[in-house]
Amino acid sequence: MSIGETLHRREAPSTTPSSDPASAAVGPPASEVDPLALVGSVLRVADIPQQRRIFCNRNLRMDEIDLVGFDMDYTLAIYNQRQIETLSVECTLEKLVGKRGYPDEILRLDYDPTFALRGLVIDRQQGNMFKMDRFGHVDRVYHGRRKLEKEQRRELYRLQRIRLSSARYAAIDTLFALPEAVMFTRIVDFLEQRRGPGEKVPFEKLWQDIRDCIDEAHRDESMKRVIKAHLDQYLERDPELGATLHKFRSAGKRLFLLTNSYWDYTNHVMSWLLDGQLPAYPSWRSYFDTVVVGAQKPAFFTEKRPFIELDADGRERGPSPPEDGPLQRGRIYQGGNIGEFEERVCAAGDSVLYIGDHIYGDMLRAKKASVWRTAMVVQELEQEIEAGQRMAPQLARIEELERRRVRLDSELIYQQQLSKSLQRLEPAEANLPEATLEAARCEVRDQIEHLRTALRELAREINALETEVDRTYNPWWGALFKVGVENSRFGEQVEDYACVYTSRVSNFVNYSPLRYFRSPRDHMPHEL
Ligand code: IMP
Ligand code: MG
Repeated sequence: MSIGETLHRREAPSTTPSSDPASAAVGPPASEVDPLALVGSVLRVADIPQQRRIFCNRNLRMDEIDLVGFDMDYTLAIYNQRQIETLSVECTLEKLVGKRGYPDEILRLDYDPTFALRGLVIDRQQGNMFKMDRFGHVDRVYHGRRKLEKEQRRELYRLQRIRLSSARYAAIDTLFALPEAVMFTRIVDFLEQRRGPGEKVPFEKLWQDIRDCIDEAHRDESMKRVIKAHLDQYLERDPELGATLHKFRSAGKRLFLLTNSYWDYTNHVMSWLLDGQLPAYPSWRSYFDTVVVGAQKPAFFTEKRPFIELDADGRERGPSPPEDGPLQRGRIYQGGNIGEFEERVCAAGDSVLYIGDHIYGDMLRAKKASVWRTAMVVQELEQEIEAGQRMAPQLARIEELERRRVRLDSELIYQQQLSKSLQRLEPAEANLPEATLEAARCEVRDQIEHLRTALRELAREINALETEVDRTYNPWWGALFKVGVENSRFGEQVEDYACVYTSRVSNFVNYSPLRYFRSPRDHMPHEL
């Protein structure tokens, strides 16, 4: 049964006791009336499939939230990732060939969409792409599609601290950015194969050309024209989106839309997603109290741009200065800034929850510039959780082997110290015959050899399992949130900047709009 089906069935929760004390069954009600039959269905968290749950990094009391804001692209609007990547690649290549003089052959290369992941970093200078863990330690690195050996990695990235803010690096932060990473690595390979002796591939120029062309493709309508004409191919219509927004509204929350997309595109996409989904809301606009398009996040959070009011056709009616008073329901605003926004919607910062998908533009900047609470939509979460579930036996085995490795490691150290002491011991000092002492030394040496062999075998088994697990997540890069046992840079950012995170907005429909999301207690190693 699919996740959707599971959720739609809304069965009565099972009465078998759960390991979650909050959801433990309390036995049959005393009266004859079945309370559940009266209301149709209610879900306990334990009944929600893992893929559709909301995960909490930082306590969030929804009863204290007055305004819920939504980003549009990749938040309310879920894209068909393969389709939009193909389009993005096509539009960019066309410009690279037509406007920047790249050879026609690049149109016919294979661009493997699995070759990029959010959170990766491009080294513009070296033509590399790498994954980092939460400490800034560079894990795997590809030059084109060739994996660098340990020594090369060390030389390039481990001898000094990497400053990701420098112009040398570019972060792949959004799902919109995956195709540029894929094109970059593929064209690096292509140009290196056809270069003449002594010729150097200008990696920085290549990156900049791709960046400029993809940027243009987003801005000049080449992509949006195609998407608007085939919305059903590029977007997924979530049947529970209207009900989710309605649930927030019926709990007294005001809703706003804050997107970087401009009016014409926003209107097309939002209409397709929501118009007519619920009879009480004939148009998507009736769900929202405030609509801000062309917000230019992150500048919305960091600068003081003015609000501009648009008419229903998206034409500028003129500036809307603070003296105009509250931002009006039913009107359309463009641009703006967070300070003025809070004032004109009469909201205290910590009563705003903003739901977005961009770790930098939506989460990090909102958190640094305000006290807004944040919810991050991580579309990849459903697949990541599925991969984790498929690999559960392997992951459990890795954990068991790691625990054994720690025990064997400390036993080896102990035996090595013992061996050294025995070496130094004189027979006279020990008051033992030389042969006895030698036998003891020999036994310890055997022990050491035995432990080393066991550790080598353990390492082999762990490596093989880790390779299998990694491939299940992503054949090139492994899991999105992890580098080995550590959180990846991306995982760390989600933990730091998103109060809660989930795979899609409609997952909120299964939770009370007044819910108290509680984060698991943090443990430092000394507390475990
Ligand atoms: P949001 O996620 O709703 O705030 O808006 C995303 C908007 O940014 C969409 O209209 C995208 O087409 C646009 N976008 C994404 N990447 C780029 C880019 O590289 N250059 C210009 N616009 C972009
Ligand atoms: Mg977005």
